[in-house]
Amino acid sequence: MRILIAEDDFTSRTMLAAVLRKGGHEIVEVNNGAEAWQALQQVDAPKMAIIDWMMPEMDGLELVRRVRSLSTDQPPYLIMLTSKGEKTDIIAGLDAGANDYLCKPFDAGELRARVKVGFRMVEMQMALLESREALAYQATHDPLTGLFNRRAILDHLHQQLVHADRHGLAVAICDIDHFKQINDIHGHQTGDDILCGLATILKDSLRKDDTVGRMGGEEFLIVSTLRAATDRFALFDRIRRRIAETAMATRSGNLHITLSIGVASAAAGSTVDTLLERSDLALYHAKNDGRNRVILFPEPTKPADEHKAEQA
Ligand code: GH3
Ligand code: MG
Ligand code: MG
Ligand code: MG
Repeated sequence: MRILIAEDDFTSRTMLAAVLRKGGHEIVEVNNGAEAWQALQQVDAPKMAIIDWMMPEMDGLELVRRVRSLSTDQPPYLIMLTSKGEKTDIIAGLDAGANDYLCKPFDAGELRARVKVGFRMVEMQMALLESREALAYQATHDPLTGLFNRRAILDHLHQQLVHADRHGLAVAICDIDHFKQINDIHGHQTGDDILCGLATILKDSLRKDDTVGRMGGEEFLIVSTLRAATDRFALFDRIRRRIAETAMATRSGNLHITLSIGVASAAAGSTVDTLLERSDLALYHAKNDGRNRVILFPEPTKPADEHKAEQA
């Protein structure tokens, strides 16, 4: 583990560093509080620091206070090093946020033991953080495709409605045509291969301001932030065509699928619910009109537009 030693006294610093290096630790040495403060603010800052109390530029107590005021998921383990053995000083150090303290002159065995305790704490903290991140990932992602799940994509849509220019916002609900037949003919696992393949193509087809999530089953939602001039039909029809033209690799060989897509654009007063309702209605029309097509809410796309888009 990397350990920061902040100590202005050369002899004491050198001895500390020697003991800890012997224990296999990588040591970063600084000789004043200001440099220690710099080092502990770095993204890859050492996860443990041994901090002298009396130092030039900034004393150890102030340094500990500052480090504890940083908002971070991984606060470092701080050991105060002090010749001040008074109980009130020790209390002040711990109150300021130190995890432990060592009195000077230090005993090498005690130093190693206390660093070991700190090391276990840092490891526990890292494991906790990892499991928290894994839980957060699981709560927001669909396990099969790795895309945002329903909750996450709807949260994203809500955020976009609140914070972005809603006049440039469009949602597209994409539903695989006759997907049940794929399951019935080739089996559920082949159906899963198709869902994963589709997710990959959708992700790959999006521009940087677009986001896609799996709403459930064989339905995917794309949230797009568009400039006013963007041709919504052309944008989503390009995706529809790409899907229709792609041979999807599955365990049952290459298969083709088509998508029906219903699109709704946000306007003043739009909510997540109204946008979903409208895109669903457009999807319903796309299915009824023969599938493998894009329909914009409110008016169904005219045949002339479709022709134009096919040529684009
Ligand atoms: P339509 O063109 O009207 O959309 O027909 P469809 O067959 O796609 O629609 P329907 O709603 O009748 O069937 C959807 C199918 O999707 C039924 C269900 O078994 C399948 N499905 C839902 N979730 C999954 C999944 O996670 N994996 C697989 N393999 N199939 C799924
Ligand atoms: Mg000192
Ligand atoms: Mg469906
Ligand atoms: Mg379907």
